[in-house]
Amino acid sequence: MFKNLINGEWVEGARVSRNINPSDTRDVVGEYAQADAAQAREAIAAAAKAQHAWGLSTPQQRFDILDSAGAEILARKAELGDLLAREEGKTLPEATGEVVRAGNIFKFFAGEALRVGGQVVPSVRPGVGVEVTREPVGVVGLITPWNFPIAIPAWKIAPALAYGNTVVLKPADLVPGSAWAIADILQRAGLPAGVFNLVMGRGSEVGQVLLDDRRVNAISFTGSVATGQRIAQACVARMAKFQLEMGGKNPMVVLDDADLEVAVNAAVNSGFFSTGQRCTASSRLIVTEGIHDRFVAAMAEKMKSIKVDDARKKGTDIGPVVDEKQLAQDLEYIAIGKSEGAKLVAGGEAIAKNADGAPGWYLRPALFTETTPQMRINREEIFGPVVSVVRVKGYEEALAQANDTEFGLSAGIATTSLKHATHFKRHVQAGMVMVNLPTAGVDYHVPFGGRKGSSYGPREQGTYAAEFYTTVKTAYTQA
Ligand code: NAD
Repeated sequence: MFKNLINGEWVEGARVSRNINPSDTRDVVGEYAQADAAQAREAIAAAAKAQHAWGLSTPQQRFDILDSAGAEILARKAELGDLLAREEGKTLPEATGEVVRAGNIFKFFAGEALRVGGQVVPSVRPGVGVEVTREPVGVVGLITPWNFPIAIPAWKIAPALAYGNTVVLKPADLVPGSAWAIADILQRAGLPAGVFNLVMGRGSEVGQVLLDDRRVNAISFTGSVATGQRIAQACVARMAKFQLEMGGKNPMVVLDDADLEVAVNAAVNSGFFSTGQRCTASSRLIVTEGIHDRFVAAMAEKMKSIKVDDARKKGTDIGPVVDEKQLAQDLEYIAIGKSEGAKLVAGGEAIAKNADGAPGWYLRPALFTETTPQMRINREEIFGPVVSVVRVKGYEEALAQANDTEFGLSAGIATTSLKHATHFKRHVQAGMVMVNLPTAGVDYHVPFGGRKGSSYGPREQGTYAAEFYTTVKTAYTQA
């Protein structure tokens, strides 16, 4: 049984939850303790008690712990990648890549702990000195989704600790295994008791305590829009700092002058890899009419060779959907697309058993054509391997369609025109733009985040993470 980490101790929970492998639902990954509200409060108390001393720890102490955590994650990438693929369902290469990203993030922020600096600024008044410094925010509550079970916790925990904050992490119920592995690694890396606490459990119970407790100074959240809105309301009500990364309906534009192979590869990756369960996935392919028919034919052909199977099996291109509920949502949207008049040209069927006969939540990637921008499948986040093609006349219409959404996380364009690529980078309303690349798959050392309905607050990752995890102090001295 995997326990919660509260004040440096492994403690049993009020309940136990079973972590199920979506590639083979007979396989139980492990039993994980579920904390209750009282235990969440104990974790917050421990983090509050530990914060002052941790905030005063030396940059070298913080570097050493984060660097050794990063090194252990990287050294165990095969084992942790296997755990991640088993609990979440992305393929082994994708899962291992995510583990490597998490390890690199810890190493990056180990270095950032040494680079926290400030400014010495001349005052406008004679004889006065001005210093601008950064201090930790205090206790931060981290609430994470199921689709990146190790990278998202890593990109919140590492900067939080690097800048001297203490942490209470509440990972997604569905995938506690990877978060537990990070807790175990950090505990053995020598973090003082209470600096990092893990409370696995329900959002409505454990997560809600983090939102409502005044000892939690800031909340960093990644997940759905609906939960993000609740979090914003709760944080505003008690004036806590917060940051939200939420959904997407990311467009990928394909222009007449695109290299067809580049466009198809980028679209297949953007739409279907990680079973389409990425906030940066592209589910809207906006294609100009000169290339439309060739592009659709090439997509349908390429999709024939996509192998949907056990996430941990060699040769699998796409693993299962994460659980029964998400599969039902994907199938519902496929039915909605059909009823709205879209043409399903490939995939869209659930597969009850994989090639070895194991029961799992499999879905053949679906491609819709003849769709219009008003259809629900083009407006709402489906969060599965379901992609639609929208036909447009030319670049101007493509850009307008790309921006016609309430979201703004990631956007892509396939083109060989420097003019259009340059214009698109400047004018598309998204936090991240990709030219001739998949809309997903981003570097770990640069800012990550979106605009409009996708994100709220400062960016995550890279040096930009300091905006959220520190607070600025301006000090004046009369010499
Ligand atoms: P979700 O909103 O259901 O859950 C996210 C987390 O919030 C979980 O840990 C959950 O337990 C917790 N939670 C639920 N109710 C809560 C409450 N009342 N108080 C506090 N916490 C609560 O999201 P999900 O289904 O786990 O993840 C999928 C969503 O995440 C998609 O919309 C996807 O686009 C989004 N996502 C966004 C990004 C990004 O960076 N923009 C990255 C990954 C995923």
